[in-house]
Amino acid sequence: MQNISEKHFVIDEHLEYPVENIQNPVISSLSERDAKVLWHPFTQHQTAPFSIPIVRAEGVYLFDENGKRYIDAIASWWVNLHGHSHPYIAQKVAEQFLKLEQVIFAGFTHEPAVHLAERLLELLPKNQQRIFYSDNGSTSVEVAMKMAFQYFHNQGITKKTKIIALENGYHGDTFGTMAVGAKSAFTAPFDPFLFEVIYLPIPLKGQETAVLETMNALMSQSDEIAAFIFEPLIQGAGGMVMYEPEILEKLLTIAKENGILTIADEIMTGFYRTGKMFATDYLTVKPDIFCLSKGLTGGAMALGVTSCTQAIYEAFLSDDRRKTLFHSHSFTANPLACTAGLASLDLLLSDETQAQIQQINTLHKGFSQKIAKSLQHKIADIRLKGTILAIEIKVSEGTSYFSNMRDIAYNFFLEKGILMRPLGNVIYLLTPYCISEEDLSYIYACIEEFLEEI
Ligand SMILES: *Cc1c(COP(=O)(O)O)cnc(C)c1O
Repeated sequence: MQNISEKHFVIDEHLEYPVENIQNPVISSLSERDAKVLWHPFTQHQTAPFSIPIVRAEGVYLFDENGKRYIDAIASWWVNLHGHSHPYIAQKVAEQFLKLEQVIFAGFTHEPAVHLAERLLELLPKNQQRIFYSDNGSTSVEVAMKMAFQYFHNQGITKKTKIIALENGYHGDTFGTMAVGAKSAFTAPFDPFLFEVIYLPIPLKGQETAVLETMNALMSQSDEIAAFIFEPLIQGAGGMVMYEPEILEKLLTIAKENGILTIADEIMTGFYRTGKMFATDYLTVKPDIFCLSKGLTGGAMALGVTSCTQAIYEAFLSDDRRKTLFHSHSFTANPLACTAGLASLDLLLSDETQAQIQQINTLHKGFSQKIAKSLQHKIADIRLKGTILAIEIKVSEGTSYFSNMRDIAYNFFLEKGILMRPLGNVIYLLTPYCISEEDLSYIYACIEEFLEEI
């Protein structure tokens, strides 16, 4: 690293503009340089502090410019499975780069794309027969919805223009995915442009019967409904809200009986987050379309997958070119990203990782039972599924994302060297699977301290 920045300096001296206009990388910190040129996601720059400059990462640890260490307790926005800068993934990607780094995916193919599709189809339910690649979670959902609408369109069914979505959902930040997600301050400026969606209440414990009745009532207009989209078992961005497989199974059955395609957004829940490969592995009824991303490459590279049934795929086969699925991204099926995906699956299915996944669940269970008693008066709800633990803190004022609690908690844990990003008053752990018992114990102790203090 030292050499590279020194070299950079030499190059700078040859630039034509006056020296005083060049930012000096030695005296100016990364954060200050960042603040002059960058615009960050989900960030109100008027009030946000400087961005923390991370210079390297290893395992569950992030290291900043000053050498401070942070435990990445949210897997860098839910993507990282095996720890950062994993040498196995790094080596596979480096080898692939020297062979083939990128090639157009229309009219051409390559080994990593084919092999990853083969392996994913082995892991997905049997009804999944085709893999369509894109770049990220939002695009995988866009593709899923385009598949669903065009599936009917290609068969001359033009009335099916509506989608059922769960209230409080999150499916991405593009227009189509904002339309099927929860409406909030995040989407308000765009609401006039978002297509109409029928919202179904979340089938929370105790409300299953009412939700079933609503779903059944909606079926009177099933000839206008193309698809039912949902985050299976856990609504991530909505606050790690959890519901049971049995009710989802019933909702899927109703949709299927009424000719409505079912889309499982497993972008957050996939790859053993819930304790099984996919959250829908807890069900016997299988969705028609799956959306995958985030953990797909172990969190190393951007990649999205939309998988579907043979029936959906076949509805696009025709001598009529207009029945083609007209969707592509420049980096569709990037060979490096597919290679990272293959390497991640090797690690994910290893005995060691599988044991870690069990261990995290066991430790989370013990901790949640402990604080459910000892800190009962501070906690509104504790939710645990697989490797995801969410603690909803009791608060008197509003419980929205913008509530104070979020900032207080975020800063408290950062100070302790833990990266957590509470969702409103919900603090949660969604760590890389390689986290040690020692690091988890430290995080638990900090959570207890935080709950005692507030
Ligand atoms: C993160 C997420 C998305 C969006 O994925 P991006 O890669 O951020 O576009 C969609 N659905 C769910 C359930 C997610 O958690």
